[in-house]
Amino acid sequence: MFENADRTELSEYGEFGLIDHLTKQVEIKNGSSVKGVGDDAAVIRYEGDVQTLVSTDMLVEGVHFDLMYMPLKHLGYKAVAVNVSDIVAMNGTAKQITVSIALSNRFSIEAVEELYNGIYLACERYNVDLVGGDTTSSTSGLVISVTVIGEAEKDKVVYRSGAKENDLICVTGDLGAAYMGLQLLEREKAVFKENPNVQPDLTGHDYVVERQLKPEARIWLTKTLREKAVVPTSMIDVSDGLASEILHIAKASDCGVQLYEEKIPIDFGTSSAAEEFQLAPMVCALNGGEDYEILFTVSPEHYEQIELIEDVSIIGHVTDKNSGVNLVGRGGDVIEITAQGWNAFPNKEE
Ligand code: ADP
Ligand code: MG
Repeated sequence: MFENADRTELSEYGEFGLIDHLTKQVEIKNGSSVKGVGDDAAVIRYEGDVQTLVSTDMLVEGVHFDLMYMPLKHLGYKAVAVNVSDIVAMNGTAKQITVSIALSNRFSIEAVEELYNGIYLACERYNVDLVGGDTTSSTSGLVISVTVIGEAEKDKVVYRSGAKENDLICVTGDLGAAYMGLQLLEREKAVFKENPNVQPDLTGHDYVVERQLKPEARIWLTKTLREKAVVPTSMIDVSDGLASEILHIAKASDCGVQLYEEKIPIDFGTSSAAEEFQLAPMVCALNGGEDYEILFTVSPEHYEQIELIEDVSIIGHVTDKNSGVNLVGRGGDVIEITAQGWNAFPNKEE
């Protein structure tokens, strides 16, 4: 995609040269992107009964990613995917993104190109247009902030707040994998720090490592639900773990929840990695973050349609508020679900 091969300093290009270099290959894909990069603001046009959805996520080096094991291309891809996931979680379709980056001179032009190669790959994959951004310097580390703009018909937008008693609780894919991927990468990083001659050993763990390094937004779900004419009653994406997300839905919808342990989808790769770390796979599914699966509720009348969707599991149902938020174990024991997901501001003592 880019021609540079060796190390080129950022200063050789300057700010405008860099922006131009990074964005000249943009080809607009969506009719709603009227004007992209190159003016004071992008111009977007949504017509008819569509509502505009906007979401932003910022990723900070040392907080959200570690460049020791996160290739820049993957980081660019992930920064876009997690934003697109937020639009999917409103039952919408992502159309445009803006990308803002803060770079220290530790980064070369080639490094930034790698980041953008990942961004462009995700734009292709999710059919979104890069229509703008901002570029600035940082005294340390890399910051990347993506804003996504999407659309949904007025009567199709799904909030966290619409779950009703007896609704089915559903989730795409499987849970806990990204967390186990992170544990493995952290372990190998610690080994490498002790002895740089030891090669990382991630054999047999491709699936969970990929789930951590290259998460995907579940854009297929929006399409499948539309085809089946099913509009969920509530939706959220699983960025902080199932426990945290189901509590968000319960709180926003003012309802209770009953989940069934035996129904919660966990990949074999996740279980075997968890075993290596002597962790219960269920704890990873409940409290591990960054799976970017979609958790949603539907009216029980849609049971048959949902049942037919291959990559969706029905994991419980909505109850009245007074019943609380619970997980029914394999032996029938009932455990109250409490949030233990990622906390952006952990206590210092922890
Ligand atoms: P302004 O001074 O109006 O903020 P900039 O010089 O920052 O303009 O940006 C010029 C154009 O390049 C704008 O269209 C802006 O959206 C776009 N742009 C700036 N940085 C980036 C980036 N990192 N990625 C994509 N587009 C960018
Ligand atoms: Mg600017």
